Amino acid sequence: MTTALSVDELRELDARYAMRTYARAGVEFVRGEGARLWDSTGKEYLDFFAGLSVHNAGHCHPRIVEAIQRQAATFAGSSNLFLSAPALRLSERLSESSLGGRVFLANTGTEASEGAIKIARKHAHRRGVETPEIISLDSDFHGRTLGALAATPKLADEERFGPLPRGFRYVPRDDAAALRAAASENTAAVFFELIQGEAGVWPIPDEVIQAAREVCDETGALLIFDEVQTGMGRTGTLWAYQGVGVEPDVITAAKALGGGLPVGAIIAGERASDVLEPGDHGSTFAGGPIQASAALAALDVLSDEELLASVRELGGRLMDGLRAIDGVVDVRGRGLMVGVSLAEGIDAAAVRDRCLENGLVLNCPGPGMLRLLPPLIIDAADVDRALEIMGASVRG
Ligand SMILES: *Cc1c(COP(=O)(O)O)cnc(C)c1O
Repeated sequence: MTTALSVDELRELDARYAMRTYARAGVEFVRGEGARLWDSTGKEYLDFFAGLSVHNAGHCHPRIVEAIQRQAATFAGSSNLFLSAPALRLSERLSESSLGGRVFLANTGTEASEGAIKIARKHAHRRGVETPEIISLDSDFHGRTLGALAATPKLADEERFGPLPRGFRYVPRDDAAALRAAASENTAAVFFELIQGEAGVWPIPDEVIQAAREVCDETGALLIFDEVQTGMGRTGTLWAYQGVGVEPDVITAAKALGGGLPVGAIIAGERASDVLEPGDHGSTFAGGPIQASAALAALDVLSDEELLASVRELGGRLMDGLRAIDGVVDVRGRGLMVGVSLAEGIDAAAVRDRCLENGLVLNCPGPGMLRLLPPLIIDAADVDRALEIMGASVRG
């Protein structure tokens, strides 16, 4: 084992060697179990962030650990040019649990977005659309590579990263009429998050979701839901669309899908299943047996009906408790995907830092906002403890 480095030494390495893309907290977590984390000084934390909704099954879930260890010791893969049971069983599971069509396995959420964009464009070209256009919603987040970035209005900065791919447009997230007006015979897809996670947990109104389905049916475009953050049980159903009553043509998944390892997926329904053909798309690492085995174990844990019922119940308990905290002015979300707005004058980043100091890990997605994404295996006592720490930390 290498000698442990102090937090100060790690900060120096970060300042000297890492590209400056992240503003990191001065804490190194070195161990996790369930909803608990421990840092390098031995201090214990309650984790209400789950590595950005990656560890939905809790840290080091024994079934996932066992699946990874067993597969890593047996066979680490031989590319997508050969048959592989873990990848094909995973594709079957994903299809059967949702839209029933074909699946493309990827490695990340961004990659799933890219593949979905290619499917939408090819599907449109096949219908004779020459300049396909993808409509997303203001404040959507779909990833940071160029195609996904072009569908992420807040970050799609032409000045820094241009020229960006063409063929993307955005409408307000709460305006069904604007969405209808933006649609045309050039529309290839309507592509959005059912609950905008990175923007601070903003559920899209039912009438906008309904309008998106109608627009796609009228124009022949594909309805694509980005379920990278909302999927894998986060909102109390395995996929968030199952709690909304509108069936899309494609969903993208990642984050919690790999049980902690990088796994992404594009899951199609009937209309989008056969768009990609040999040579159209691929990935060296995607669907490798170690990560596919981890994903199968994660699906086993997170598809459990009792667990999903608990997510809905504890989500209600968490949101009710948050509403009762002095200084909290808005609470929103579904299941255990919860966003909070604080009263004007309260510095949300400072509240997040005080929570960390007091042993609760959560996230500040933007000014005045906090986001809670606990592992789905938490219990009522964990919720009450988090509320206690938040109550004390909001007041300062
Ligand atoms: C995190 C996220 C992505 C990007 O996923 P990566 O694995 O970071 O590439 C895309 N869409 C949504 C909704 C996300 O939350």
